[in-house]
Amino acid sequence: MNFIVNQRIIVVGAGVIGCSLADELTRRGASVTVIDAAAPGSGTSSATFAWVNANSKTPSDYYELNYLGLRAHERVARTLPQNGAHWFHQTGTVQVAHSDERMHAIESQVSRLRSDGYDARSLSSSDVADLEPNLTAAKVRGGALYAEEGWIDVQTMCVSLLDRAVERGAEFFPYQTVTRVRERHVTTTSPDGATHEYDADVVILAAGNGTRRILTNEGIEFPTIDPVGDTGSGGSGHPKVGIISTTGMVNSGIRHLIRSEGIALRPARNGGITFADNPTGGKWEMGDPGIWTVPALLLDRARELYPALNQATTESVLLGTRVLPDDGLTIADWVDENHSVYAVATHSGVTLSAHLADAVSREVIEGDRHASLASFGLSRFIAA
Ligand SMILES: Cc1cc2nc3c(=O)[nH]c(=O)nc-3n(C[C@H](O)[C@H](O)[C@H](O)COP(=O)(O)OP(=O)(O)OC[C@H]3O[C@@H](n4cnc5c(N)ncnc54)[C@H](O)[C@@H]3O)c2cc1C
Repeated sequence: MNFIVNQRIIVVGAGVIGCSLADELTRRGASVTVIDAAAPGSGTSSATFAWVNANSKTPSDYYELNYLGLRAHERVARTLPQNGAHWFHQTGTVQVAHSDERMHAIESQVSRLRSDGYDARSLSSSDVADLEPNLTAAKVRGGALYAEEGWIDVQTMCVSLLDRAVERGAEFFPYQTVTRVRERHVTTTSPDGATHEYDADVVILAAGNGTRRILTNEGIEFPTIDPVGDTGSGGSGHPKVGIISTTGMVNSGIRHLIRSEGIALRPARNGGITFADNPTGGKWEMGDPGIWTVPALLLDRARELYPALNQATTESVLLGTRVLPDDGLTIADWVDENHSVYAVATHSGVTLSAHLADAVSREVIEGDRHASLASFGLSRFIAA
């Protein structure tokens, strides 16, 4: 297949997906322009639990995609200079069971994952105590260790990858909202009302929930959940809105990403602890006042696990709207037959970012579609 050398590529969106793409596209020699309506990493990527894993991902090709995501983060981490910025904290995940029933469920999950080649092992209660000596040991029946998992410091990742792309010649235009994408031509508006025009060989839409809005303007229906208009979670089962709360700096003694019933927590970039709300099973609308009861609930649950958190207070609460294709998985595909506009929209985007950047860059520059993307095209929605 023929491809253009030194392609001019516009990436719309500087979230975890857009910044990863900018880095990978410039590494492959493309001439890249990144445009964002706000600052890098300020969309959904600012309000994420950022757990890198393929742990409970189904169906099998989505598990594979996430597994490649985990591996790709390891690969990128190896390329970073020892004294430079690092963002993949491969702490491993410890899952804790407080009942025999829970322990049985974890053991089945571990054996299923092991048969898929995942690094998973069951833990006795004394194994849990060795790995997490500051966790309250009473009532712990055992658990599991997923040693290759970890979490990403997304802010550092976005800024570092964008910096690296700019060092290789990319241009970045923050605070410009893309209003039109037509025939390899992009129109933006900046806060002072000025309009700007850009030409490219290819436009990649990595605008999270903004991609749907941009394509709707062009009369193209894009199969992602509208975070404002649609109710519930579509067919995906994921809640649209999620709450991420973080304590101030605290000497908690937490060594791994921890999952227990009704709570998930991990170390945070500020030296505090970050909590995810999804294990509470809550499905919130943005304006629901009940949403504000969640951070205190999570901190209380975490204190039962780690008494050192009695000293901690909640320092920040972020509300994130998930980027959810209608089936809750991933879209990575050309939007038009002329191959001028490509779109990437996904849940689990933190896990997937490094692999998607690699696979999508290859497809856009060399015309070669990565086998792992076979199930993640737009045609599956048309067929349905
Ligand atoms: C509560 C919560 C928990 C999560 N937990 C995890 C997890 O543990 N692990 C995991 O892997 N994933 C997780 N996710 C999912 C993950 O965070 C997202 O999939 C990922 O952040 C999406 O990144 P993105 O770059 O596609 O979108 P975004 O981060 O939203 O970036 C899109 C960018 O495009 C810009 N933009 C939008 N419209 C326009 C426009 N018209 N013009 C110009 N710019 C525009 C925005 O300003 C934004 O900066 C979670 C998400 C949430 C909400």
